[in-house]
Amino acid sequence: MALLEIHNLDVHYGAIQALRGVSVSVEQGKIVTMLGANGAGKSTTLRAVSGLIRPTRGEVRFDGKPIHNLPPHRIVEMGISHVPEGRGIFPGFTVEENLQAGAYVRKMSHGEFERERGRVTKLFPVLKERLAQPAGTLSGGEQQMLAIARALLSKPRLLLLDEPSLGLAPLIVQVIFRIIREINQTGTTILLVEQNIHMALNAAHEGYVLEAGSVVMKDEATKLAANDDVRKAYLGVG
Ligand code: ATP
Repeated sequence: MALLEIHNLDVHYGAIQALRGVSVSVEQGKIVTMLGANGAGKSTTLRAVSGLIRPTRGEVRFDGKPIHNLPPHRIVEMGISHVPEGRGIFPGFTVEENLQAGAYVRKMSHGEFERERGRVTKLFPVLKERLAQPAGTLSGGEQQMLAIARALLSKPRLLLLDEPSLGLAPLIVQVIFRIIREINQTGTTILLVEQNIHMALNAAHEGYVLEAGSVVMKDEATKLAANDDVRKAYLGVG
């Protein structure tokens, strides 16, 4: 059984149909990426998993349990954490306060929080030096790190990452992807939406290609990276 099972999902925004029968399966321990042009429905799929929008048809199962009718906070409690495009950090709060907000659903004691914060900031040492700094004054790369760190403080089994490399310099993108692999290697399953398809296919085990709200291809990431259609359409090769 897959950890996350998205089955035959339709999503509408008013009269606009954003997803048409999308099915995606994410095995425990894997990194799965969703590729596709702007507007293909990638972010919408993540929003449907984290309960930010309700599907009009189909179902989402996490660890075998249906979650598509649950409110977002219940879904976080069950172990799914979403880092949205644009990061969603609280700019006026300090780094420390943003991290506390991430841990909120776990109702940790102070000691537990300190331990978890220590574990997470090991991945992002730059945040440890900036705990008292307002989050809005961090660089773009640091803000992305904070958004991921905050999500990890809710101790997710599944992390949903929406465009983590967006707007970042190439060197920082490398750092973010190294950290994504580390997070996965320490046992967190990841569903990743990325415009940087080269990096995404390099990091992921499997990939799905979405077009106009439907899945048009799915395969092992290495096979997608070698596929002529994918190379032409998304990697600018050939
Ligand atoms: P991008 O990389 O540009 O974010 P995407 O693949 O993530 O693209 P979505 O953001 O999921 O695509 O959008 C899918 C479709 O749903 C698009 O046609 C988009 O215009 C539409 N859509 C997304 N959000 C809304 C909204 N809040 N209201 C109305 N339509 C929306």
